[in-house]
Amino acid sequence: MVSEIEKIMSNIEQVRNIGVIAHVDHGKTTTSDALLAGAGIISERVAGEALALDYLNVEKERQMTVKAANASLYHEYNGKGYVINLIDTPGHIDFTGMVTRSLRVLDGAIVVVDAAEGVMTQTETVLRQALEERVRPVLYINKIDRLIKELRLTSSQLQDRLVEIIKDVNNLIDMYAEPEFKDKWKLNPAAGNVAFGSAKDQWGITVPIASKKGINFQQIIDAYSSDDKDKIAALTKKAPLHEALLDMVVKFVPNPKEAQKYRIPKIWKGDLNSDLGKAMLEADPNGPVVFYVNAIHVEKAGLVATGRVFSGTLEPGKELYVVSQDVTGRVLQVSLYMGPFRELTQRVTAGNIAAIMGIDNLRAGETLVESQYKSQGAPFEQLHYIAEPVVTIAIEPAKVQDLPKLVDSLRKLTIEDPNLVAKINEETGEYLLSGMGQLHLEIALWMLKEIYGLEVKASQPIIVYRESVREKSQVFEGKSPNKHNRFYLSVEPLNDETIDLIHRGAVREDQDSRDRAKILKEQAGWDYDEARRIWAIDENINVFVDMTSGVQYLKDVKDTIIGGFRIAVKEGPLAAEPVRGIKVVLHDAEVHEDPVHRGPGQIYPAVRNAIWAGILTSRPTLLEPIQKLDIRIPMEYLSAVTTIIVKKRGKIIDVENTPSGTRVLAEIPIAESFDLAAELRGSTAGKALWGTEFSRWAPVPDSMLDDLIRKIRERKGLPQKLPSLSDLLGP
Ligand code: GDP
Repeated sequence: MVSEIEKIMSNIEQVRNIGVIAHVDHGKTTTSDALLAGAGIISERVAGEALALDYLNVEKERQMTVKAANASLYHEYNGKGYVINLIDTPGHIDFTGMVTRSLRVLDGAIVVVDAAEGVMTQTETVLRQALEERVRPVLYINKIDRLIKELRLTSSQLQDRLVEIIKDVNNLIDMYAEPEFKDKWKLNPAAGNVAFGSAKDQWGITVPIASKKGINFQQIIDAYSSDDKDKIAALTKKAPLHEALLDMVVKFVPNPKEAQKYRIPKIWKGDLNSDLGKAMLEADPNGPVVFYVNAIHVEKAGLVATGRVFSGTLEPGKELYVVSQDVTGRVLQVSLYMGPFRELTQRVTAGNIAAIMGIDNLRAGETLVESQYKSQGAPFEQLHYIAEPVVTIAIEPAKVQDLPKLVDSLRKLTIEDPNLVAKINEETGEYLLSGMGQLHLEIALWMLKEIYGLEVKASQPIIVYRESVREKSQVFEGKSPNKHNRFYLSVEPLNDETIDLIHRGAVREDQDSRDRAKILKEQAGWDYDEARRIWAIDENINVFVDMTSGVQYLKDVKDTIIGGFRIAVKEGPLAAEPVRGIKVVLHDAEVHEDPVHRGPGQIYPAVRNAIWAGILTSRPTLLEPIQKLDIRIPMEYLSAVTTIIVKKRGKIIDVENTPSGTRVLAEIPIAESFDLAAELRGSTAGKALWGTEFSRWAPVPDSMLDDLIRKIRERKGLPQKLPSLSDLLGP
């Protein structure tokens, strides 16, 4: 049975790697379930064996849809069998980091759009991300029944509506696809790369299928307006959804070999002329193994890493090099997917999705290469996170004896979702969990309870702020406690372009300094020589530049100075929040000749104090996280919703009338968003639908600044008074 699957998998033309992407609630889960229900049971189809495990019931019982890493489906098209790997892309808006990671292993995406709602922000966000990764979209317009039952559209209105959605999606493709793909990837319903249907009722058609099977819109309208269950069931029988979608996938999504030719140059950082590069461009099963991990699950027996074999053949016993950790490990087990279940196998060839066990400390996003090729081992591009952890809760187990279990579960949770950050507050002994929004943390708490079986108590969410400056400071002298070392430092704000480049991962600490300087000069207006002198870039987007010349012993203490810089920006002087977006310039220094007098105990405070003095004197402020809101309401609620947004220090960005109501795009500070859901529901008789997304960091209003600093310092047990210049620099 496994060997049947292996046979198809080793014929790369018969493999497709896809995902389903959608705005929340548009039907991603229902659509994926329909695909699995229709085509999931590979064993039955291929081997004639009835391994009729009822996937859906198992899933519902375990409530783990959010966690299934992959499901391999079987589909026949023009008499030929195909393995279609359906890779899970988390549907929740706060999981954008995980979405990016899974996009990397797929070549095509079914974009699901609710026919009544149309294209919404998250549709745009994920489609944009997909196009950036050179993932080819096909479109599925879902919930056609709503157009008939709720909006009572006539056949021609219905067609107008579909045309309008296709146009919207094509506009996005036009906007975000690279020129070479734009025309090729534009949707054309007549060609069959757009499907319409109802995932709930599990039917779907494309234009070619409709004409082949003699189905027209009037028949569909009749079935739904009379609410005739038999007519709907007949439709499902005649035009099952999975058939329409998978036909579309086989026909329009490239096979891994075709896709890797143009995707590898975009998503892999290494040398395309190296053995690894060449093997991946060809998806060569006889080349060296390259395996990219897109999801990790912690199971009883150990870590299971699911990912894509970009070249070579993965077999138990292979020794792989973990690129980012510079270690090697041996693969103990290799498995493939059948439907949603993993089955052990002896080999998975290039282009396919596999799961491995046996290599420790793997994290999602890791690249593994066959160990003989370790010198060529470059990672897949650093993942660009659009969102950042901005909300924190303190958690403790309901029962004290569960503490070790909590620690263990938090570790697993943060391995599975690297956008969650768990920390222990050394002073209070509290466990802190940070996420990208309130909902993200709610899901994490839910997983602790449902999946790890832990009862926990959680505090109210606390917003994470950033500290920054708005002006350039003068140069301050920081002295070491023994007065033998002196550093002359200034701080200033980084420009938006630089922040964006670092945020996107285009400018990084571990980069060739010439490449980096070139990018900063061309795209962010830096002086090339100054950019060449960057010593450090920290995770919260602060840069350290060395502009000294001829300082004796400076090289010997470079790492210690960088250490002092990291300490200074890890917890800033205003409220011990991370500093973001500053450039620290070292202008001059005196370093003691004797290493005994220039250890970290001397240098850290000297560097930190001068940086803090710079921050405190250059119009410092706190930055707060701002959230984007995309709200759909019936028109009559517009003023009620506007009132709520404005009351919450928010801003309306755009109001647009669509066939299904009014769409309001707005921004509000996350600090004001905690009871937003209740208020929006309350003031719209429950009719508001919305999505949220992290937008940006913005300075808090000056009128609130002092009060906010006071409150945070109080919460953290810091003295009320900020450090003064004489505290920092001496008299
Ligand atoms: P997701 O958030 O994108 O995964 O969306 P779900 O698949 O969970 O669907 C959201 C809601 O839409 C659920 O209540 C589904 O039952 C409903 N839904 C899904 N497909 C259809 C459909 O074809 N017609 C209608 N009317 N509702 C649907």
